[in-house]
Amino acid sequence: SYRKGGYHAVRIGDQFAAGRYIAQRKLGWGHFSTVWLAYDTTTSAYVALKIQKSASQFVDAALHEIEILSSIADCASSSNASSNVKFVIQLIDHFKHTGPNGQHLCMVLEFLGDSLLRLIKFSRYKGLPLDRVREICKCILIGLDYLHREHGIIHTDLKPENVLLVSTIDPAKDPVRSETAPILERPEGNINGGVTSLIEKRLKRRARRAVAKISGRKDSMVETGEAPKPDRNIDGVDVRCKIVDFGNACFADKPIAQEIQTRQYRAPEVILEAGYSFSVDMWSFACIAFELATGDMLFTPKVGQGFSEDEDHLALMMELLGKIPRKIATAGAKSKDFFDRHGDLKRIRRLKFWPLNKLLIDRYKFPENDAHEFSEFLLPLLDFAPEKRPTAQQCLQHPWLNCKDSTPT
Ligand code: ATP
Ligand code: MG
Ligand code: MG
Repeated sequence: SYRKGGYHAVRIGDQFAAGRYIAQRKLGWGHFSTVWLAYDTTTSAYVALKIQKSASQFVDAALHEIEILSSIADCASSSNASSNVKFVIQLIDHFKHTGPNGQHLCMVLEFLGDSLLRLIKFSRYKGLPLDRVREICKCILIGLDYLHREHGIIHTDLKPENVLLVSTIDPAKDPVRSETAPILERPEGNINGGVTSLIEKRLKRRARRAVAKISGRKDSMVETGEAPKPDRNIDGVDVRCKIVDFGNACFADKPIAQEIQTRQYRAPEVILEAGYSFSVDMWSFACIAFELATGDMLFTPKVGQGFSEDEDHLALMMELLGKIPRKIATAGAKSKDFFDRHGDLKRIRRLKFWPLNKLLIDRYKFPENDAHEFSEFLLPLLDFAPEKRPTAQQCLQHPWLNCKDSTPT
């Protein structure tokens, strides 16, 4: 991908924006960009420099992301800004950079730490203590409430790798992170994608060693932040993590794509093409909360003999949540691909119902009380009727967010 139209190759010490930013080390990469830790010589602070690929479709995607992030940043800098803005990544600057592969749009973002995905990996996929889950859920919800109500923005790609922890570690010295960062990345949307090659096995071994090393120095993972200004929602909530990656976000009144969201976090109305709104983010949020608490994705649909990934996904949803009401099942542009006129799946006839409460007790060994309370929190968010799902604002009022963990950790 380091060719014309692709990534811009960066060497440590490279300068950007007429010398204002100096590249320190690579933080990560995605389909659209590489992201570098950079030193901002104007403010003497570390920032994340996202350097987009240069081909025109990537330029357009970056312009879109900048438009969304700027609308958030403009609001943040106004005098009556809500302190809830701190739960969403901030765009600091943007500029063009010309290199051998073309002209790259660059975004300067505040520097953040590891993603929730890495946090889940550090738990060895066993899940985090419920008190941690609660804290993280509050932060995500405050961020979502802010995006939805104050900006009319739907994120559309909420998943653990798009929520980053706020880190207090000195970005300049952190050898463990830089050693492990590229290894622990998962390919977008598919954790099980092509795992068998030898290289992959070797990487996995290295990743395990790195995890062992990191778990011995847990304090490098601290995520506290500046104390936020008190706000109705966030009394006592430190900023622990922030929502990032607005490349797919849209204003609710101008949806851009029909197929949104990463597979496992995708809401049923998106699969059925029945239109969508803010409540798609609430569905993804529930999937994230489950994953944080158990270490497993809530839904991992697969193509099978005689049925598609979409149909398997709908079947998994129904096995957990009960049958989709016929009216909803048959209302989407793609409903006929999956459902007969009675509202039954065409190709997957036998469903094995396994309600969330029972799943948490049987498979994840939750104490009954925890399982019950956590299910009561999640189930309304997983309502098949999008308009019945609580909003982020309503969800923040839920008693589960303020109850005490019954299992000592
Ligand atoms: P995607 O394919 O996910 O859309 P992308 O090219 O749009 O990728 P991002 O997801 O924004 O890129 O960033 C790629 C990676 O860089 C992230 O997964 C994360 O590891 C790292 N990263 C991004 N932004 C920051 C930041 N502000 N601070 C620290 N690391 C970051
Ligand atoms: Mg991303
Ligand atoms: Mg992106």
